[in-house]
Amino acid sequence: MEVKMINNCPVKIWTDYVEKSAMRQIENLTTLPFLFHHLAIMPDVHTGMGMPIGGVLACKDAVIPNAVGVDIGCGMCAVKTNWKVADIPTDVLRKQIMRGIRKRIPLGMDHHKEAQDEKYLPTGHDIDKMEIVKRRQEYITKEVGTLGGGNHFIELQKDETGTLWIMIHSGSRNLGKLVGDYYNEKAKKLNERWYSVVSPDIRLSFLPLRTDEFNAYWQEMKYCVDFALCNRKLMMKRIEEVIKDAIPEIGFEPMINIAHNYAAWERHYGQDVIVHRKGATLAREGVIGIIPGSQGTASYIVEGLGNPESFCSCSHGAGRTLSRTAAIRDLNLKEEVERLDALGIIHAIRNQNDMQEASGAYKDIETVIANEADLVKVKTRLLPVAVIKG
Ligand code: 5GP
Ligand code: MN
Ligand code: MN
Repeated sequence: MEVKMINNCPVKIWTDYVEKSAMRQIENLTTLPFLFHHLAIMPDVHTGMGMPIGGVLACKDAVIPNAVGVDIGCGMCAVKTNWKVADIPTDVLRKQIMRGIRKRIPLGMDHHKEAQDEKYLPTGHDIDKMEIVKRRQEYITKEVGTLGGGNHFIELQKDETGTLWIMIHSGSRNLGKLVGDYYNEKAKKLNERWYSVVSPDIRLSFLPLRTDEFNAYWQEMKYCVDFALCNRKLMMKRIEEVIKDAIPEIGFEPMINIAHNYAAWERHYGQDVIVHRKGATLAREGVIGIIPGSQGTASYIVEGLGNPESFCSCSHGAGRTLSRTAAIRDLNLKEEVERLDALGIIHAIRNQNDMQEASGAYKDIETVIANEADLVKVKTRLLPVAVIKG
């Protein structure tokens, strides 16, 4: 980790390379008057909307919708089975399990038509008090249990012992995006009216603590985080059912289910502050995290070391190194398909467009994990067996 002083603000960075546009966004963040203590930048950092992804921002009395991430509550879940991958016949894996998963879980950006499972919606929230959530009630029942597009995935993996794991990356679907955009617009208007000099980038507009707007955003943001947890939980349940149909004797361990786009009240350096994790994972001492690599590379189950310098956080993945356009333009389709085929991975790369999600579009996960050795310790290294992309 390296400490840089930028605009009199300490910035702790867990990588020796930050792309230029992300660096400019870091500089903008350092000028925020309500930033608390220091800024923490994870090793998977790359450019985002206003604030880089892989950033951890603590604030004393404001929340920034764009510091939470576009897909509120997006995160990972993982389950370990008691079954060896080598003991699953290829036919069962391909035909019963992979096809079965595709049949049970709606993929892609489509608006899904049928209600999924209402038992899996968040509870304990006052929906009448939430503008967007209330307006979206009918859609929400159709969106829970659906994967979403692009970067979201379902992966079957194996650990060092050859044991089968199931991993899912997904978020709050359209709901989280609507909530984020709506309150970012509100923040923009408020900031333009009262505080225009504060934000160096209008996309970093904030909602001040103890305002109605802050409270409304906070409630809906928390709902979205819960909704995303429920969404992953329902998908995992269905995958377990599909696998159990194919292998009746299989057993599953309890699920790990974590968010990497959210804000929360936490105590750091003796004060209660709002921590924004935008593409960052909680790494409090003893807390289990999931750090995915990319399609066709390793992913990691980690245990937090509780390092206060990262506000007890770690990376949320490998992080992008190429934009989607650059990846489609520059990466070689044939080479990538051959590489994955040679590794025996059941993958979904079919055309040049799919290169935007190929491993060459992401940083090297091994370097990322090595860079954060003071934030987490590795529990399990997982290799891909079969991948479904949203
Ligand atoms: P994000 O939440 O920023 O969209 O992405 C999280 C991380 O997931 C990325 O930084 C990348 O490292 C990882 N990732 C993207 N696609 C895949 C995939 O197909 N398989 C695995 N294991 N990881 C992926
Ligand atoms: Mn995500
Ligand atoms: Mn997401």
